[in-house]
Amino acid sequence: MSIQKLAILGSTGSIGTQALDIVRQHPDKFEIVALTAHSNWELLAEQVNEFQPRYTVISDEEHVEVLSDTVSDTEVLSGSTELADIASLDEVDTVLNALVGFAGFESTLSAINAGKKVALANKESLVVGGALIKNALQQSGAQLLPVDSEHSAMFQCLTGENRKDIEKIIITASGGPFRELNRSEMQEVTVEQALDHPNWNMGAKITIDSATMMNKGLEIIEAHWLFDLPVKQIEPVIHPQSIIHSMITFVDGSSKAQLGLPDMKVPIIYALSYPERWTLDTPRMDWKEAQNLTFEPVDYEKFPCVKLAMDSITEGPYAPAVLNAANEVAVDRFLKREIGYIDIPKIVEKSLANIQSKDSLNVETLKEIDKETRSYAESLTK
Ligand code: NAD
Ligand code: MG
Repeated sequence: MSIQKLAILGSTGSIGTQALDIVRQHPDKFEIVALTAHSNWELLAEQVNEFQPRYTVISDEEHVEVLSDTVSDTEVLSGSTELADIASLDEVDTVLNALVGFAGFESTLSAINAGKKVALANKESLVVGGALIKNALQQSGAQLLPVDSEHSAMFQCLTGENRKDIEKIIITASGGPFRELNRSEMQEVTVEQALDHPNWNMGAKITIDSATMMNKGLEIIEAHWLFDLPVKQIEPVIHPQSIIHSMITFVDGSSKAQLGLPDMKVPIIYALSYPERWTLDTPRMDWKEAQNLTFEPVDYEKFPCVKLAMDSITEGPYAPAVLNAANEVAVDRFLKREIGYIDIPKIVEKSLANIQSKDSLNVETLKEIDKETRSYAESLTK
């Protein structure tokens, strides 16, 4: 494969920094064309000095000046339009979208419309606008490769298979830090406890989503759009060790699984190297060591977010966008200690019941729904 010209959106985050580690391991395979961050201009400046991208975007305009003064030989841009434009540049082959939340949607769409190879970590893009993204993929011939560990596992299991032979997808979930708490213990959960995930070290938003298991709900919607399957054929299962990253059962009863230590570098490099495999210097499983892999059903009563997300798919074209916006606000308010952990699903549920879906699905109305939901979810006392 010739050199991949790569734009990493959200390069200062958990996924973004791990992607840059992969680039360091394979300097002959990549040219970094663009790096972006929201507000962490110090780390972005370090990355720019190391990787010398042609373009640098800092979306929080407050930091443009100080960043411009710190870096050289790169064009410094700011703003959300610029962030989406970067994803469609002629000089870019591959866009790794490692932005968090709805803020990543327009970049995904812009990269797909421009026919890029898109390595997608920003699952919220597919949650809010899956139908629009699918439509754009069909028109442009762009390639969409999952970076989420479960979806990378599904994608790897499907290599050499026909999609029509899928009977169901078993999407595994660690169950997060509160799997064993009862409902009354859940009322006492603190921000610190919720941020302490047993298996994965990730950004704050997805860590809280894992604690409420909204993350699994969002991932079911993500799988629905990626693999063109109805939600009823996507079954979540708790697997606390996070070694099996997901499984596919085929029509003949055979199942395939993808396994490994919980390490996001594996799905990141797979999306970047596909259809090849490249070496990755990272710890391996020691299969000689005695260990148990266990499984249990999801408790939907304890984790109402999973069902809210699964049901949103059939509740109208904008319901997943309402779910996503309300959840982003609720997570943010929980992190600011304005609401409790158990209020997160309540805010999502109330928002779903109160925001009216619009008639036609397009980018403008999607943005309106997102905005409207955010202000409603902000206004709820609890
Ligand atoms: P993070 O919070 O660590 O990083 C987010 C990045 O996006 C940062 O570079 C930040 O500067 C930028 N950003 C944040 N808000 C922005 C905004 N409003 N506008 C522009 N840029 C903004 O997040 P993360 O954990 O790396 O997650 C990124 C995405 O990958 C999320 O969609 C998450 O669900 C998904 N994902 C993450 C992991 C993981 O292990 N971290 C695993 C699977 C999927
Ligand atoms: Mg995941």
